[in-house]
Order: sequence, then C-alpha cells, then structure tokens
Amino acid sequence: MTDLSLPEEPTAPDVADGGVWLRCIDCGHEHAPFEEIIYTCTECGSLLEARYDHYPTFDEFTGRGVWRYRAALPFEEGVSLPEGATPLHEAPRLREEIDLRSLRIKHEGMNPTGSFKDRGMTVGVRVAQELGVDRLACASTGNTSAALAAYGTRAGLETLVLLPAGKVAAGKIAQASLHGARILEVDGNFDDCLDIVQELADRGEAYLLNSLNPFRLEGQKTIGLEILEEFRDDEGRFPDRIVLPVGNAGNTAALYKCFRELLAAGELADSDVPKLTGVQAEGAAPMVEAIETGAENTERWSDVETIATAIRIGNPVNAPKALPGIRQTGGTAVSVSDAAITDAQRALAGEGIGVEPASAASVAGLRALRERGVVGADEDVVCLTTGHLLKDPDAAAAAGSAPESVANGTDAVLSHLHD
Ligand SMILES: *Cc1c(COP(=O)(O)O)cnc(C)c1O
Ligand SMILES: [Zn+2]
Repeated sequence: MTDLSLPEEPTAPDVADGGVWLRCIDCGHEHAPFEEIIYTCTECGSLLEARYDHYPTFDEFTGRGVWRYRAALPFEEGVSLPEGATPLHEAPRLREEIDLRSLRIKHEGMNPTGSFKDRGMTVGVRVAQELGVDRLACASTGNTSAALAAYGTRAGLETLVLLPAGKVAAGKIAQASLHGARILEVDGNFDDCLDIVQELADRGEAYLLNSLNPFRLEGQKTIGLEILEEFRDDEGRFPDRIVLPVGNAGNTAALYKCFRELLAAGELADSDVPKLTGVQAEGAAPMVEAIETGAENTERWSDVETIATAIRIGNPVNAPKALPGIRQTGGTAVSVSDAAITDAQRALAGEGIGVEPASAASVAGLRALRERGVVGADEDVVCLTTGHLLKDPDAAAAAGSAPESVANGTDAVLSHLHD
C-alpha cells in the first residue's frame, strides 16, 4: 500500500540523522540516511523518500536559489555553482493564443549547466560527500551527465556517465566531456543504461546519482517552492496548474512532495494545490498510458523514439511516486507528437525563451489540453521548461529558418533584401 501522506508533527525515528531519515513509500520501513549507501528499501525493494522532523513555512526561507530552501533540505549548504532562482517569464502572446487567465514559463534552462538537473546535483553531491564516496555515476539522456560532471568535478570527485549511443544532443555530451566525466556510450537506450549503472552501484563501483536517488528529488523540489513563493508574492494566490515534461518522472514526484510538505507546514490548503499535469512524447508515453488505464505502475516500453531526447524514456523509475501525485492533485497526463513539440519550441522562441525540444513538450501538452477543454480559460498555468535551447543546437537549427547566402557588398545585400 502506498502511503504518501505526511504527518503534520512528525517524530524522528531512531534511525534519523540531523532530523532526516529515509522512508519506504510502500512498506513504510524507515532507514538511516547517511550510515551506509542505500537507494531503495532493503525490506521490499521499493522507492525511498526523505522525511524530516520539521516542515518549514515560507518565512523560514532566506537567501537565493536552491539553498534558500535549506530549512527543507537535508543539509545547510552544498557544492554550489550556484543553481536555482530561475526566471518565471510571462509569455503574453502564447497566453493570448492558448486563451488562459495567466501563463508563466519557469525556465529551468537558466541553471548553471542549462537544466534543472543542477538542483538535484547540488544536494546529491553533498550527500555523496557525507557518505565519503569517491566515484559518482549516472545513466543519462544527456542533462544529468552534464550536471553530474560539473558538480562532481567541482567537488573533486571522479564521474562516470553511461549514455545511449547516438541519442544524446551535442551540447550535453560536450559539457560532460569538458567537465571531465568518463563517458561510456552504450549500444542501447536510456533504460538499458540505467539498468547497468544500477548494477554497478549495487556492486559498490560508484555512487548512483540518477533520480532513483531520493536526495536528487530533494533538490528538485525547490522548483515547486520557487514557483509557489513567487506566484503568491506576484499574484496573491497559487497557480491552478503546473505542466511539465515527464521522462523518469522525478520532477513530477519532487513537485508532489513539495506540495505535501507545504500542506504539512500549513502553508497550502487542499484547494490551493496545483494540478500536476505531465506531458510525454507520443513515442515514449508509458506514464500517459498508466494514467489512462488507472494502473499503479507503468509498463516498460522497450522501443521509444522522439525528437525530445531528454524524455526518450520507456521505464520511468519514479512512476510509483509520480502517478499518485498526478491523481491526488486532480491533474492528468497527455502525449504530444514531435511536430507539436517543434511548433511549441518555435512559439516559445518567438517570446524570446530558448528551450530544447523536451522542454517545449510542456507547452505543446498545454495547447492540446486547452483545445480539448481539459484546461479551462480561467486557469493560472505555469509551464516548466526544463533545458536550454543550446543543449540541442541541431534541433534548434532544424526548427528555425535557414541562413541565406548573399554576395559580399551592400548593394548585393540590399537587392537580396528587396527581392
Ligand atoms: C531530465 C529531463 C527531463 C525529464 O525529467 P524527469 O524528472 O526525469 O521526468 C525533461 N526535460 C529535460 C530537458 C531533462 O533534462
Ligand atoms: Zn519497503
């Protein structure tokens, strides 16, 4: 039985360390967080989540970025570049076109390595230091590897990344490479890479920093804290809905945890909780399938394909945490075509917001749900854009217009312009 509720006045169990412990989402078994390396429940193998003896209110947060929220994190500070404090853009033309009360774009591409993965890594690498490990590893569709490489090397730790050969955007490999990660290209998809790196971690070869690691999600939950805090201050209310691209469903799980912690702290009422709305590409949509069939977990898709390589994932490891999040908040999940993703990428670029294809899936999904009337015109919506345009320069160039050749001379340029 999944227990996702949080007690309002939690009592720390004996295994807690500094008011933090890990709790199994299925059997409820409680584990010491920093004594030995664990990723999943030792009793039943299910997912773990971090629990605290205190859930802070907004007035306990000071500073800027991820570590502003230290009162909601397992440590006071970490290896920081620094991350978070990303813009919450208005997008007036898109708002008008889609027809909504308000539309804001939370651009996570503005993090130090260009994706929200930095928020998870600043916390995850801090935990790795606590555990005293010397090698970090991840499987990645690209952005996790870029973030791991940067934060790992900053901490002076060795980093190893496993990537699906030929399916990672150029900017991301370049980052992982220059930041000094050892890069292994596997002849398989992301899910195969994750299977392998989990085995390596189980055999003690490296510390795993995929979003299966519950501490990654602690960092990522600050996306929700930033959105809710800023929206409340600007608009005097909370958004009705947060729409986000879904790959491994880590962010979906992290946002849901953020909401539950604010509920436990008394900062949110049940009716304030934004509807979590997940978007996947048609060629990689196991979460959408599970929402439609009512299943408790996803069925693994072994063949996945989409232009949105960051969400080209057939076996979302955080589905058991994320599916209840979508359901309990009254949200939904939808899949969109690659053409719709590229259209949305162009529309965002037309507002000056440059994102990679996976990020644009959120806006493509919102458009589809608004057309079907699932999203109402009276809603305040926030779309998450997860990664920067320059991550995937090939996709951006293909979606944009081609440069025109002209002869060298003002007359030639003018006559070309007036043609
Ligand atoms: C990792 C990533 C995602 C998927 O996020 P999950 O938390 O795994 O669902 C989406 N977009 C981009 C750009 C990413 O890097
Ligand atoms: Zn368990």
